[in-house]
Amino acid sequence: MALLTAIALPVCAQPGNAPQATTDDTFLAKPQAERPNQEPAIVRPAQEKVAAERLSELRRQFGHAPNIVVVLMDDVGWGDLGVYGGGDAVGAATPNLDQIAHAGLQLSNTYSQPSCTPTRATIMTGQLPVRTGLLRPMLPGEGANGRGLDAKATLPQKLREAGYVTRAVGKWHLGTFKEAQPQNVGFDHYYGILTSSDDYTAWREPWRNPDLVTDPVRNAWAAKGETMAIVEGSSGEEAKPVFPIDNDSIRFVDEKLTEHAVRFIEGSKDSKQPFFLYFATRGAHNDNYPHPDFAGKSLAKYPYKDVMVELDHRIGEIRDALERSGQLENTLIFITSDNGPFAEAFPDTGHTPFRGAKGTSYEGGVRVPGIAYWKGTIKEGRVSAGLFDLTDLYATALTLAGASDKLPGDRFIDSIDQSSFLLADSGASRRRTQYYWAGNAFMGLRIAEFKVLIRDQNYQHDDTWPRNSPFQATVQSSMYGGKLFNLLIDPKEEHAMAPLKQPHIPVLLQAAKQHAATFKAFAPPVPIQLQ
Ligand code: CA
Repeated sequence: MALLTAIALPVCAQPGNAPQATTDDTFLAKPQAERPNQEPAIVRPAQEKVAAERLSELRRQFGHAPNIVVVLMDDVGWGDLGVYGGGDAVGAATPNLDQIAHAGLQLSNTYSQPSCTPTRATIMTGQLPVRTGLLRPMLPGEGANGRGLDAKATLPQKLREAGYVTRAVGKWHLGTFKEAQPQNVGFDHYYGILTSSDDYTAWREPWRNPDLVTDPVRNAWAAKGETMAIVEGSSGEEAKPVFPIDNDSIRFVDEKLTEHAVRFIEGSKDSKQPFFLYFATRGAHNDNYPHPDFAGKSLAKYPYKDVMVELDHRIGEIRDALERSGQLENTLIFITSDNGPFAEAFPDTGHTPFRGAKGTSYEGGVRVPGIAYWKGTIKEGRVSAGLFDLTDLYATALTLAGASDKLPGDRFIDSIDQSSFLLADSGASRRRTQYYWAGNAFMGLRIAEFKVLIRDQNYQHDDTWPRNSPFQATVQSSMYGGKLFNLLIDPKEEHAMAPLKQPHIPVLLQAAKQHAATFKAFAPPVPIQLQ
């Protein structure tokens, strides 16, 4: 990182002279690589033993590995949930999500990628998007041509090999063509919307496209652009339309998705196999059209806020179905969002207390809610500031499945097994370093409370509305020397303090060098900008 070295290093701050780090201080921790092709993790033998014993006892009790439910909301902000300081305070109460968080582990430092497709790819692959080339949504009509998930190595495929029933419900956004659809990359079955919510509705808005909407011929032509429906299919098939979507029926999409997931959960009641349910909601991506039962039901009475109330209800229905069918105590539920709020859609957008929004590598773009709930196994009332990257779901889920030996050996895996962090009563994160990437550009990294950015992002940051830019932070520019923030005393990243923190620089620099080396050992499929 030539830019980082531009900050002069004081003679006294050589990493080799550092005293021993305390157990919980990750700043000077020395993570170890369990495999040469995997992100090194902090070794925590005591909690790893507790977690392994707990998993083995559960397997004896239930006769198979635990069910895994990942709930992924769309464009929902860190600050939208009541338990994160939002809720009614920002216009939409979230009692179910709050209750689930209080009954499990609430994470305050869960990280996504800055936008939809890259985050969804990390969950499926355990790899940063630059390692798969899934840096942006595939455009309608874009063919396979080497892009898309490697069906042999996805999380659902590995879990299926470990004996799981695998089901995807909801938004996909990792390719619309047959080979890229969920049921052909590891899921047994898929029911959902293949692209982003606004793809189904935005072009139909009369105020956006009167030239289309008011002209029957053009309107019919535009409707052929892609499948405007919830689609459904099983492995080997091309998913078929089952519920047409327009600007009215879209109100019912999250209800339909939830009903499907609930039926699947209830149908698994007496199964001898565990299941992996990937439940990705339509809400609360703009434009939001709340279900009639929820329209006007939020304190704010704005569409986004009404949809937050609805999402809270839907996620409560998922939990209730697990409880009703007697599966709650053998199921990990992990609830999160795929990126920060989409600021340009204001007022149809969420809330983050941090700097920036969707698209940026400032915290507002990538720090998302993270709730791990497992009745009777994850101790209630836990909170943690430990780092959890959504890539970590991959290795963590494989450990829960007793299938960590299925971790791919032919590619670099950024995922860390965090099962002991989640399961042990006083578990701490095994992740030392959080990396920030935007598209193919390395933006910076975080260790403990220290975050360095080596590139800046230009985004509109004022109080005018409506905003004109289509997406925040599409421009990245290098910065001489970078910016160093302390996220505990400056969570809004307003005070770059590199000159005051010179002893810290070599520690961050060393981590950046190690990260860069992984791209030499495992060449990425796309050009990348490391410095
Ligand atoms: Ca999103």
